[in-house]
Amino acid sequence: MRKKIVAGNWKMNKTFDDAYELVEKIADELEKIATPEMNVVVCPPFPFLEMCGDMSQESFFAVGAQDVSEHESGAYTGEVSAAMLASMEIDYCIVGHSERRAYHNESNEAIANKVKQLLANDISPIFCCGEKLPEREADKQFEVVEKQISEGLFGLTAEEFANIVIAYEPVWAIGTGKTATPQQAQEMHAFIRSLIAKKYGKAVADDTTILYGGSCNAKNAKELFANPDVDGGLIGGASLKAEDFLTIVKARI
Ligand code: PEP
Repeated sequence: MRKKIVAGNWKMNKTFDDAYELVEKIADELEKIATPEMNVVVCPPFPFLEMCGDMSQESFFAVGAQDVSEHESGAYTGEVSAAMLASMEIDYCIVGHSERRAYHNESNEAIANKVKQLLANDISPIFCCGEKLPEREADKQFEVVEKQISEGLFGLTAEEFANIVIAYEPVWAIGTGKTATPQQAQEMHAFIRSLIAKKYGKAVADDTTILYGGSCNAKNAKELFANPDVDGGLIGGASLKAEDFLTIVKARI
């Protein structure tokens, strides 16, 4: 189902006490402003999932992990399986983030496996895609995103695909303070929706949630979210301060 989502990707930030303070502030404010249409997702590092999950039970946000193993279980030291996440009532999981693609050499094939593991455990993948700066400069952004999506997601059935959230995150905008213009975001989101329509039909495409990520902040969120194909945001840096994150959440209400 197409949803309005604002998800915070905390990346490798915060200690336990800082994480507690941040999520508590978010929970307190959501109690006042939450609407049934609004979906707020907090994606803390693995060690804080349980604490955030416990707090989410009494609040108006859901919890997502930042990554998952492509394997089901076994001798994969340091990895976390989708079944483990599901056993902690995690609803979402980011996959294919550009930092994982870049620093951990994640291939589209590995990401497709992660997506399958998550779906088998009833967790909605937040599937990240997006082009690097030289690719945009060479006007290859559509080609790049099409390859990421077709290799990462189009092995799914339409029924499986219904649980996917897509996050378009141009790599040149992540953590750089350089945001895609609302026109650039809308153009790519509409393109992604057209790819989905071609593969699964218009109804599935219209039902897909597509988020924008990349230096989305308290100042520019409203303008980005005003676009018809931008359903919300995946927020990195600005999700680390409760006030900024909540301003972005309010921009989506
Ligand atoms: C991200 O890493 O998913 C992201 C969008 O980061 P930032 O908002 O800091 O650009």
